Amino acid sequence: MTTPVPLTPPRKPDLIVLRDPAEAQPPLVDSFQRRITYLRLSVTDRCDLRCSYCMPERMTFLPKREVLTLEELYDLATGFIARGVTKIRITGGEPLVRRDIIDLFTALGRRLGHDLAELTLTTNGTQLASHAEALAKAGVRRVNISLDTLDRAKFAELTRRDALPQVIEGIAAAKAAGIRVKLNAVALKGVNEHELPDLIAWAHGQGHDVTLIEVMPLGDVEEERLDQYLPLDDVRRVLEQRWTLTDSHYATGGPARYVDVAETGGRLGLITPHTNNFCAGCNRLRVTATGQLYPCLGGGERVDLRSALRSDNPEANLVAALDEALRIKPEKHHFRMDARGADPALARHMSMTGG
Ligand code: SAM
Ligand code: SF4
Repeated sequence: MTTPVPLTPPRKPDLIVLRDPAEAQPPLVDSFQRRITYLRLSVTDRCDLRCSYCMPERMTFLPKREVLTLEELYDLATGFIARGVTKIRITGGEPLVRRDIIDLFTALGRRLGHDLAELTLTTNGTQLASHAEALAKAGVRRVNISLDTLDRAKFAELTRRDALPQVIEGIAAAKAAGIRVKLNAVALKGVNEHELPDLIAWAHGQGHDVTLIEVMPLGDVEEERLDQYLPLDDVRRVLEQRWTLTDSHYATGGPARYVDVAETGGRLGLITPHTNNFCAGCNRLRVTATGQLYPCLGGGERVDLRSALRSDNPEANLVAALDEALRIKPEKHHFRMDARGADPALARHMSMTGG
């Protein structure tokens, strides 16, 4: 049985705290017998950057009233934990631009070592310098920081904001706070393509792992997706001209395959939705900041958890909604990257579901 820990101090009189489930709840197992133990919870769709592969320059954000309160986000997490989720990644948009977000980390962090094994986040790092210590205090031990280039001008062009110094400062602050850093870089044809070896060498020199990601056709952006797409098989071939890469058995339960880089002594992850499908091992569900559950990042299936949470019987309705999500979780994503001028595979941007 789980014991809900209310946020302290409760800031809203209408705080919903799901009651303790009377009976143990069934684990989350989908119709392909995949056990779900990992929740990616987006806390905002807003962001202080405008990465050109993620969103258009003039992005329309959701009205704040549509976004779940911190208390609702906590209760939602509790509902997942009751069904066997042991790892939660807070994401966005940029999670650290949400006001008082540390309160959510602190409240969830109290469950670590009890019914939660890991609490982590994905961030662009711009606000990390001021939050790293509080995150460490809340129990965050690892963080994924997105960094696609170390070239300040290129960073400004790519993210449409001149914020590289803050990100570098944020990375250093996380390390100083004792949080293990993994850098994520989206491989972009003709943009950071030639810089990737230097980015990897720098990260490994700082003691950080790096994961490269193939760009995915999510949401309309101003650029042609096919022009951005750089298959990681090509990147690997280039890296092998410089370094000795050995396939590693290391696994984090995520979609990345890892290689060890002999010369740097570091580890490199490769996330390859296009060149190597990884869906058979999928263990996760994603929820947007408005409480929409997407069982697959690459699918249109959706279940509305906000209605369940705001209903008369949130506990039972949340259980039913999660069962529905398990029923409709597809076997694999249907991203394709082969047609110029094609509409995005899905209309929603990555900033809705987070990464
Ligand atoms: N703002 C935070 C950040 O950038 O780390 C968290 C949210 S962001 C949407 C999560 C990750 O998704 C980032 O690593 C980002 O590079 C990646 N991403 C965004 N759009 C993408 C796309 N179309 N294809 C592949 N990765 C994408
Ligand atoms: Fe913001 Fe992250 Fe999207 Fe970049 S990738 S625009 S930092 S949400």
